[in-house]
Amino acid sequence: VKCIGVLTSGGDAPGMNAAIRAVARTCLNKGIEVYGVRLGYKGLHEGKFMKFDRHSTRNIINNGGTILKSARFPEFKDPEIRKEAIEQMKKVGMEALVVIGGDGSYNGALKLTEMGVNCIGLPGTIDNDIPDTDFTIGFDTALNTIVEALDRLRDTSSSHQRCTILEVMGRRCGDLAINAGIAAGAELVITSDTGYDEDKIIERLKQSKASDKDHAIVVITEHITDVNELAKKVEAATGFETRANVLGHLQRGGRPTARDRVLASRMGVKAVELLEEGKGGLCVGEVHGQITAFPITEVLSHKHVADAGIYEDAKKLR
Ligand code: ATP
Repeated sequence: VKCIGVLTSGGDAPGMNAAIRAVARTCLNKGIEVYGVRLGYKGLHEGKFMKFDRHSTRNIINNGGTILKSARFPEFKDPEIRKEAIEQMKKVGMEALVVIGGDGSYNGALKLTEMGVNCIGLPGTIDNDIPDTDFTIGFDTALNTIVEALDRLRDTSSSHQRCTILEVMGRRCGDLAINAGIAAGAELVITSDTGYDEDKIIERLKQSKASDKDHAIVVITEHITDVNELAKKVEAATGFETRANVLGHLQRGGRPTARDRVLASRMGVKAVELLEEGKGGLCVGEVHGQITAFPITEVLSHKHVADAGIYEDAKKLR
């Protein structure tokens, strides 16, 4: 392969820049031309390409967000639009593509591969909701951001003897919530894996109120319930003064942790090596510390499953 493009697509995640830098450097060190594609698949369709040299990815490994910007572009599901994008790639001689994004972005990468353009997907999302990788790029940074927020909330929650509910991201995936809950010593974690049972939640908080606990922290994944409504119900039923907080987009920004930078860098190297071997339609994962690749079709047919023992261990720590 003589020329590769790299793009970021879907929601941004800290560490995407480290991945872009790794793709660029690995290419340049191998004598492969490399372009950054701005604005995800939208920019691919519009030919928004920037040729990278050794200086292009300077001073970005430590920055959150993505220098290439990201976009949602549902039009890319249309084969005609994808054909036009391939024409744009041909104009600059771009033969293959590294796509950094979530499962939606993987779908686009798969479709392009089926049309003759080899693509490799890298899991860029804070949610950790991609199957066949233990960690996604951005998860560790977001997790640390949440834990820092919970530490702050603990100070005030404890001073005022309150119950504090914190809603965190993850879409349908509970990994951010359960890991943050353990790391910050939460009383209760509610995710799609635990299920949502208001009576049980209230019972549990009543118990902690009855014991000599002066405050409680509850971590809950987004899209499960309205946390302000839950706070009202908890307060009415338990007597705990209760406040709800939604952490929101604060979780998406910030300097990537060392863990995310290393993961992103190694995955970027792997993506270029796979394209060099003439492979496409694959996505990169880290499984038991090893950087490996799986067919995108396989990964999209799997469901991300939470670590088997983590919820059990969390219960033992109450
Ligand atoms: P996140 O997990 O952060 O939401 P994502 O990659 O899943 O990231 P999506 O918005 O689902 O985010 O997908 C990103 C882009 O991928 C879409 O805007 C679209 O351009 C492209 N895409 C998604 N699904 C398909 C598909 N079935 N075929 C072709 N392209 C697709």
